[in-house]
Amino acid sequence: MKLTEKYRKLLFGLYPPKSFANGKFNKISAFSNMGVVETSKGLVLFDISSRLNGPRIFNSLREITDKPIKFIIFSHGHFDHCFGYAPIIDEIKENGWEMPQVIAHENCMNRFEKYKMLDKYLHWLHDQQFGSVLGKDKQYNSAHEILNPTILVRGNENYTFKLGEYTFELYHDKGETDDHIWMFVPEERVLFTGDFIISCFPNVGNPYKVQRYPKDWARALEKMREKEPEYLIPGQGPLIEGKEKIKEILTITAEVLHFVHDEVVKRLNEGKWFEQIYHEMLEIFPEKFNHEILAQVYGCYRFAIHAVYRLYHGWYNTGNPTDLFPAKNSEIANEFLKICDEKEYFIRAKNLFEEGKLQLALHILDVIINATNRLNIEILRKAYELKIKILQQKEEKESSFIASNIFLNEVNRLKLKVSNLSK
Ligand SMILES: [Zn+2]
Repeated sequence: MKLTEKYRKLLFGLYPPKSFANGKFNKISAFSNMGVVETSKGLVLFDISSRLNGPRIFNSLREITDKPIKFIIFSHGHFDHCFGYAPIIDEIKENGWEMPQVIAHENCMNRFEKYKMLDKYLHWLHDQQFGSVLGKDKQYNSAHEILNPTILVRGNENYTFKLGEYTFELYHDKGETDDHIWMFVPEERVLFTGDFIISCFPNVGNPYKVQRYPKDWARALEKMREKEPEYLIPGQGPLIEGKEKIKEILTITAEVLHFVHDEVVKRLNEGKWFEQIYHEMLEIFPEKFNHEILAQVYGCYRFAIHAVYRLYHGWYNTGNPTDLFPAKNSEIANEFLKICDEKEYFIRAKNLFEEGKLQLALHILDVIINATNRLNIEILRKAYELKIKILQQKEEKESSFIASNIFLNEVNRLKLKVSNLSK
């Protein structure tokens, strides 16, 4: 993955704090963004980043203002949005200040309970998703300790409060999660989107994550557009300014979500299975969605197709009963090796690789890797080494950080297997 400086900054939140609207509003970045509103009665924070980045955003905040924090809003319960509270609480205790009100959607509490139940699994999952880039454990946050919300937004109800000279309108919509809140401050027309906007292709259909809601997501963006914002603080990325630019960004992001949703639904109604839907959809991606705000650097269109299919369909993807209760891959591969041996498979894989048919070469190599006797060191080494080479080539061309990381994780795992072969 050739990550340009622009998108490296985006993915890792490497922006200096940005103040706007007479200096009363600020965006502070550390992976995800924290929105800050300075009122005459104290501060309102929209998101507080991750446990790891909490000190970084807190220090940036205190270089801007020393006012006490009165409200904290969780846009949603993801680890990079509401776990950076430790320095905030330490400061309150040191000064003997009153605790702020903490606002979340009621579904956020279910999310935290789920995170507690799946503690070890999520640890493993985070290593899978980010491990080859960020190193193990770096991004992990336990949900056994949380900053407890004091005000819960219920169901589809809106919640509005005033502090000092500003009004804070909170709205719940489903999108990346089922506990999302977005915020609008009408006096300066500032929109805080959380992860509804992340300055690149919506992260819908992440291969590791639970179901997301593309249609509700599109509708939420249209509701935001009705507010005619002048400023937009996204979940990640730089501040977006200007009514027309914001309108364009909200519109094109809603359109791509409608598009992927409606095209998959159309094909489901035509009685098509996943493979056909997926490959047809790859052919019809409209040129207009090659827009910089939809850069496929984190999530991507290919993942979004899965998301819509999963929203309405179970796990039986192919319509072929062979796949209903399948044998183990190793057993299937073993039968193939009885028809012709590893050497022939390897020659075929190598030819496919040389013809540039990398994906097909991987499928053939997997027959060798899944079934070859572990004592057959030479052929296994060659298969591992060719697979490493292919995955590296695919990774170089890959635009999506998530897909790229999956390729690199496997490269690292296979390199370890190669080094263990002769032991
Ligand atoms: Zn999120």
